[in-house]
Amino acid sequence: MPALTSARVKARAAELGFDLCGVAPVGDHAELGFLREWLHRGYAGEMAWLADSVDLRADVRALLPAARSVIVTGSLYNTIPASGDVPPAPGDARIARYALGDDYHDVLRARINALVDGMHAESPDPLETRAFVDSAPVQERVYALYAGLGWVGKNTCIINPEVGSWFFLAVVICSLPLEPDTQGLDGCGTCTRCIDACPTGALVEPYVLDARRCLSYLTIEHRSVVPEPLRVPMGAHIYGCDICQAVCPYNGAPLLSQDAHWRARPGLDSPSLAELWLRTDDELHALVKGTALTRARLIGLRRNLAIAIGNAGDPDAVAALCTPNDDRPSAEDPMVREHVEWALDQQRRRREAPPHGSV
Ligand code: SF4
Ligand code: SF4
Repeated sequence: MPALTSARVKARAAELGFDLCGVAPVGDHAELGFLREWLHRGYAGEMAWLADSVDLRADVRALLPAARSVIVTGSLYNTIPASGDVPPAPGDARIARYALGDDYHDVLRARINALVDGMHAESPDPLETRAFVDSAPVQERVYALYAGLGWVGKNTCIINPEVGSWFFLAVVICSLPLEPDTQGLDGCGTCTRCIDACPTGALVEPYVLDARRCLSYLTIEHRSVVPEPLRVPMGAHIYGCDICQAVCPYNGAPLLSQDAHWRARPGLDSPSLAELWLRTDDELHALVKGTALTRARLIGLRRNLAIAIGNAGDPDAVAALCTPNDDRPSAEDPMVREHVEWALDQQRRRREAPPHGSV
């Protein structure tokens, strides 16, 4: 049996449905070191697990001492053409497009495991592997850079010059010294569109994200009260944020995924804030089950809905907030109530504000 090659691994990855695949060498890549500085600046917010695992994240050899290569795959998930990327109607919720379909962890874990099984079956040499889908202390984007999948843009996403940045990463750490790809070249140039478009100023400098200000963090990972100055900039976002990717010129004519897993599930394609809020907890749970939205938990989703309703000022949504229902216990959580009161206060202020043009 011939030795397992990078080319063979990539061919198998393509057969399994991965859109991109490259190989990074294991090494002391300079970019891996920035995480400590980033944590030191406090940018991780409540994500304490990042600091807890900082040593593991410094080098994949902490996870697999025999590691020589990191295979990085990319899976396109965007199903919305550039022409269909319109602002939500007043009263509608915004959900990051990666979360509209099936939970990528489940889908990609099966695929990456199949890739690993094939490698073990085809390699004449003994090998060790560990495969991960966003579930391990691995700095995937650094390895994606060295695997030639693209470069880390000023918006901190991996950008591929051909396909843009709407793709998931999944990695295999491997003990074989597979032939590496060439590092991706930075294509941002003088562009600053993502930095300019960010509603909260979370991109504090090119290539540096203060997660505490980022809507992707605030709507998902942040479990407590949302700081008041960041509530209005949240707009209608109830889970994640796509703004800094949507404005990127490399996503101007994105390749659309044909994978049915990523199509918006019924009820998640532009849902109205009122309709979402009026769901009982069981109904809301049933809606998000099997999607990435479960990560925010019901209480987080309720909190985000309250803020979005406060921002939208949609009469139906505000009325929904005031409609009691014993089957909505998450709406009675004290932390959620604080945001409901804020939303109602926003509505009161809107009503009391003098009409435009008055003196
Ligand atoms: S995801 Fe949204 S909030 Fe976060 S950096 Fe990008 S534009 Fe800003
Ligand atoms: S919007 Fe411009 S600066 Fe930002 S990641 Fe894309 S190319 Fe780079």
